[in-house]
Amino acid sequence: MVVGLTGGIGSGKSTILECFKSFGVAVYIADDEAKALMNRSKVIKRKLIQLFGDDAYEDGELNRPYLASKIFNNKSLLSKMNAIVHPKVAAHFKHWLKKQKSAYVIKEVAIIFENNLQDQYDYIITVVADEDLRIERVMHRDHTSIEKVKAIIKNQWSDAEKIKQSDFVITNNDLQEAKKQAYKIHNVLLKKLKQ
Ligand code: ADP
Repeated sequence: MVVGLTGGIGSGKSTILECFKSFGVAVYIADDEAKALMNRSKVIKRKLIQLFGDDAYEDGELNRPYLASKIFNNKSLLSKMNAIVHPKVAAHFKHWLKKQKSAYVIKEVAIIFENNLQDQYDYIITVVADEDLRIERVMHRDHTSIEKVKAIIKNQWSDAEKIKQSDFVITNNDLQEAKKQAYKIHNVLLKKLKQ
């Protein structure tokens, strides 16, 4: 069983994923694997240089700020980049999944609904939090400005839209409360597996 964990920037996806990990669930962070593959895979490297030019890499390492500046607000470039990276991540995930022994696995993906990928999951958990908290958290985590965080949030689906299509929602305004919700969901998922 594959469970998708999603949520807007700063909602606390990575934090909640750690809770599930502590319950013994195998976790996969799609963004991290994508970044690793973008540095490791010669095929991806070659194609990204074709698409973005030599500046896509700096001293052999992915030049993330450069790529981010190129794809932000450029949907065509973003989808071209996704077409290079996503199939490789999907193949990597499939391979990883075969090796897992936990009752179910959770895959953290920032963008599920926006890319219409909900069918790839048996269940979807969306993490939500009040917008002012999310902005504060991201400014602190990424040392960035309020304007930049707001622009990213504006680019993503609203929580209300995501909630409509989710099986479970975790409200992460308070961490202890969110952990309790995560544990409840974990037990519901285990029950579903037994049915
Ligand atoms: P996301 O992965 O959704 O972008 P993170 O899990 O990285 O979000 O959380 C964003 C930041 O907020 C991190 O620095 C994290 O430690 C912090 N954080 C997450 N949840 C809470 C919470 N309930 N209370 C306080 N800080 C939190």
